[in-house]
Amino acid sequence: MFVYIRKEVCSYHTKKQYVDSFWALFFLVKRGPGGADLLPELEYPVSALRGVGARRETLLQEVGVETVADLLLFLPYRYVDRTCEDGIADLPADREVTAVGWVVSRGMAPGRRRRFVAVLKDGSGQLECVWFAGFDYLPRMFAVGDLVALGGKVSRFGRKLQMVHPEVEVLSGEGDERLHTGRIIPLYRTTARMKEERLGSRALRRLLHGALEAVSGELIDPIPEALRVRCDLPPLPQAIQRIHFPEAMTQVQAARRRLAFDELFALQLYAERMRRTLAARPGRALRTPGPLAEALMARLPFRLTGAQQRTIEEIWGDLSRPAAMRRLLQGDVGSGKTLVAALAMLAAVGAGAQAAFLAPTEILAKQHAATLQDLLAPLGLSIHLLTGRQRQRDRQAALDALASGACQIAVGTHALLQEGVAFADLGLAVVDEQHRFGVLQRALLREKGNNPHLLVMTATPIPRSLALTLYGDLDVTVLDELPPGRLPVKTGWRGAADRDKAMHFLRSQVEGGRQAYIVYPLIETSEDGDLKAASQAFEDLQSGLLRGLRLGLLHGRMSLEQKERTMAAFRSGDIGVLVSTTVIEVGVDVPNATVMLVEHAERFGLSQLHQLRGRVGRGGRASYCVLVADPAEGLTPEARARLDAMARTTDGFEIAEMDLKIRGPGQLFGTRQAGFPEFRFADLGRDGDLVRLARREAQCMLNADPDLADPGHQALRRRVEAVDLGRMQVVEAG
Ligand code: ADP
Ligand code: MG
Repeated sequence: MFVYIRKEVCSYHTKKQYVDSFWALFFLVKRGPGGADLLPELEYPVSALRGVGARRETLLQEVGVETVADLLLFLPYRYVDRTCEDGIADLPADREVTAVGWVVSRGMAPGRRRRFVAVLKDGSGQLECVWFAGFDYLPRMFAVGDLVALGGKVSRFGRKLQMVHPEVEVLSGEGDERLHTGRIIPLYRTTARMKEERLGSRALRRLLHGALEAVSGELIDPIPEALRVRCDLPPLPQAIQRIHFPEAMTQVQAARRRLAFDELFALQLYAERMRRTLAARPGRALRTPGPLAEALMARLPFRLTGAQQRTIEEIWGDLSRPAAMRRLLQGDVGSGKTLVAALAMLAAVGAGAQAAFLAPTEILAKQHAATLQDLLAPLGLSIHLLTGRQRQRDRQAALDALASGACQIAVGTHALLQEGVAFADLGLAVVDEQHRFGVLQRALLREKGNNPHLLVMTATPIPRSLALTLYGDLDVTVLDELPPGRLPVKTGWRGAADRDKAMHFLRSQVEGGRQAYIVYPLIETSEDGDLKAASQAFEDLQSGLLRGLRLGLLHGRMSLEQKERTMAAFRSGDIGVLVSTTVIEVGVDVPNATVMLVEHAERFGLSQLHQLRGRVGRGGRASYCVLVADPAEGLTPEARARLDAMARTTDGFEIAEMDLKIRGPGQLFGTRQAGFPEFRFADLGRDGDLVRLARREAQCMLNADPDLADPGHQALRRRVEAVDLGRMQVVEAG
């Protein structure tokens, strides 16, 4: 009797907030639109349901379920298809399967190593299951005679079948057999305590079944029927019913698609409304390109790339219209975004207005200020730096110059957004490395001027589907060409055994006059583990493989002054090798650096690795990125796929697409990708079409009903307002 099983169909998220240490200055408190937004009418405590008392209410909180809405949206992590079942004897080896059978024996087994063994039987054969831990609760979980489903991998030893540490699901029990047998059965992820207290998958199934019967009458479908039919989506009550109790797996797909659509649709409605509101406010039409931009182009030692030319023309086109520009400029590392920004700023300055350039960190703000100073001071412009940590006197001078209009271009960190910072006449704001600034920052910035133009720049290659989702309120331009003469960075990954060889190579480059980075991951489990790893390595290298070279150390615990001194020494070439934790910044530009060596590369996400690699290959010289995996054995398939992808391509967009493919559902964005919203139902790797559909429908709906005032749109309107309030808040962390 039974069964094989298939891949996870739905991902599972508890509502979680998380802090990302990689983006040192900000953390984003992210909340996807959860139960509250999707089913507001069911937003009351689960304890209102029959069968849920105080104890269960507490237990359910362990998986993030507090309200009836949460419960209905607590999705199965897997389904067991028991409509047609194979026997135990036919189970394929070495694949995730689910075995169903009766327990014929169970208990501690004799032998050297303590273990708990259970034997499962059906008409076709038997299966031995072994556990090396959990001796306290296993005996209580199931008994001889129980019908159980076990999930895991089967190993074959001759004719003997074995599973180690399978997941257990008791199917037989009091009543309700039809819920647990002869159909597709949902399995729910529960905690050990829940299982112990008899609130496992089985009990949840019963609970959900009851809940659906009790409250389905209260469910409101916020989406108008015509739209639903046009998009081939099932009604919401049906989708929720079927995602828990499907009659066929195709119903699960359709139901998931419906929930994902709702999630994306609310977001698109929100973004599109915001975009329309802003577009309706009058903006200032600037004369472009203007004499200043022409003067700058005449002075450049090189020509604009074709992509820069196209991009700046697009931007100038926006600026010359009497509406505020709202454009996202995506360009891979090194594609020359700073120059494009400078040319845009000159249009504002030429019109007698001011421009502000925002960077996410102090180091980057200083670097940009220096670059812009070099480019623009010869044109007679006054450029000021404003950061949170500069001396009071400098700060006051910058503030005065901004307020009086004497300063034409302000470069700074989020300090520019603070109260008390006043511009005489802000005409254009440029935000670099957008993903560290959230929607709120963009709004704050707009308030600093009279509806200023906004240019947002990011080096994070964002696939189109994602860009639409994240920046639906912005127009997107892609800078898809590097300046001529750039050689692709040669990239390879090695096991730890080859580390010495890699260091020798690095040494030879530095002895030849080049510079190098060695990067260590942050180790999040221990407070200062990363510091130890990098500073220990720093000492070992200094007295060992890299003896005689000038090494510098950079880590998150250093004071800003120390960091800056080290960065300045590296920039000037006084330091040959920069040993660092990931504090080296996205955007740091030292053209003489030709080697990027990343330790424990398996711990980094793809986009991070790509950013790190972007620190080299910025001059005209051959450059190298060496990724050291440690341990090289036992890499997860995902880690291996990431390293292979890095070695195979240097194209940021290809890498971003790979990233979406490699991450499975439910872990689409790890903690490394702060700034991206996390979705509960949508899977941006697969749902690109759905994003576009949601966007089209949102536009169509707002064309007919701009304020969502139609009585039939009230439920939707509530959801969109929930997005507005809860979507993404950026909080400053110290
Ligand atoms: P990013 O897009 O990563 O911010 P930058 O603006 O820092 O890139 O530019 C990287 C480097 O390329 C800088 O040193 C810049 O001077 C140089 N650069 C920019 N545009 C061109 C061009 N058209 N031709 C040659 N070099 C260029
Ligand atoms: Mg840059």
